[in-house]
Amino acid sequence: MRQSHALIAGAGIGGLTAALCLARQGWRISLFEQAPVLEEVGAGLQLSPNASAILRGLGVLPHLEHAALRPQELVLRRARDGASLIRLPLHEAEHLWGAPYLLAHRADLQRALLETLALHENISLRLGSTVAGFASGADGVRIVVKHGQIKSTFEGDCLIGADGVHSLVRGRLLEASQPLPQTKRELCKRTAWRALVPAELASTEMLKPRTNLWLGPDAHLVHYPLRQGTVVNVVAVIKTRPSTDSTQTFWAGIGDPAELAQSFTTWAEPARALLAAAPQWRTHPLLDYPPFPTWCAGRVALLGDAAHPMVPFLAQGAAQAIEDAAMLGHVLAEPLTGTQTIETALVTYQKQRYARASKVQAASRRQATIYHLKGPAALARDTVLRFSNPERTLAGYGWLYQVQNYPQDELT
Ligand SMILES: Cc1cc2nc3c(=O)[nH]c(=O)nc-3n(C[C@H](O)[C@H](O)[C@H](O)COP(=O)(O)OP(=O)(O)OC[C@H]3O[C@@H](n4cnc5c(N)ncnc54)[C@H](O)[C@@H]3O)c2cc1C
Repeated sequence: MRQSHALIAGAGIGGLTAALCLARQGWRISLFEQAPVLEEVGAGLQLSPNASAILRGLGVLPHLEHAALRPQELVLRRARDGASLIRLPLHEAEHLWGAPYLLAHRADLQRALLETLALHENISLRLGSTVAGFASGADGVRIVVKHGQIKSTFEGDCLIGADGVHSLVRGRLLEASQPLPQTKRELCKRTAWRALVPAELASTEMLKPRTNLWLGPDAHLVHYPLRQGTVVNVVAVIKTRPSTDSTQTFWAGIGDPAELAQSFTTWAEPARALLAAAPQWRTHPLLDYPPFPTWCAGRVALLGDAAHPMVPFLAQGAAQAIEDAAMLGHVLAEPLTGTQTIETALVTYQKQRYARASKVQAASRRQATIYHLKGPAALARDTVLRFSNPERTLAGYGWLYQVQNYPQDELT
């Protein structure tokens, strides 16, 4: 039997995981990444059990765990004095949902995925290769790939657009399927500022194995240690200044610390000290889209941020990309049976994933409003948090952290 061949645009967390999920189902994979090298971009990622279970099933966790940290708790704090509002026992995650809650550097996760990829002969990764167009027909998909000035074409049985929030594949696919006025409603109300603070510049309190989430008016701050406590990952989210260019590429912006400090003048000293210790800030405008009307057409499907970009207030963008990849591998398991075709399998993939990803998108957006409350509304939020039961509050995230829809044998 001829081996099916998947073309994947983008070797981010979503594209790499999709390659692994399809390879284990017997597919041959050609993965195209526009970047000439997969470098140390990004910063920390929180990997909740719904994602870590899938990574474990793919054999990625052994390549990651030495570089990842298991947080004991998530502490929510009040901005003005740092008072703890609630402490959620994240160390319970494995007991509650069967897989660990992990903190990892994005580059470490990418490296762990690449190391696992290297064990598969049926995956080829082409760097410096930008997918510039595609045509999908009844028998397959043809893509145009640019390497500098040189253009080549490749053919496969399907194309997965895992090419991120500014996805070319999505642009072409939606153009081809139906007009989409609501994509114009993309919003950029907030900007994330990210930095890694070396341990020697951070207080010992900041190096404890916990995720800290500070809530303030129109802003919030997240920090946690990474890489065996050698650095502290810091993310500060503030309102977008009018000058911010929402078209800038992922991680590309360099932030002015004085501009950031203006948003934190009323915050407790430990928070301001941590911000002041950051050697460099990268800015990332947070784009907020409504769900797109479709993720697939014919033999082409979207995955990860290309399919459902979301604001990072539930720390779920990468996790949802990983869930997409698992479902894609599941529906495209070879051989397709009965009347199933690649086209119908991709429709099933969308059906299985669309409602959940849209729900996470909406919940992330709601969380943004809650985090950034001010005045009496913030006081009410803080009072509710202080009197909430930590175990029950954490258990309330079961809908998100519980792995759904995948056969257990793919998760062991
Ligand atoms: C501040 C912040 C904090 C976050 N924290 C978390 C967190 O804690 N947990 C979590 O789960 N998620 C988090 N996320 C979200 C997460 O980073 C993203 O959702 C995730 O990386 C998306 O993965 P992806 O593979 O879909 O897209 P990307 O990571 O954007 O990868 C897309 C890849 O495609 C490549 N590409 C683009 N166009 C082309 C083309 N035409 N041809 C070939 N290659 C192309 C790009 O170079 C890139 O490598 C956070 C995001 C932000 C901004």
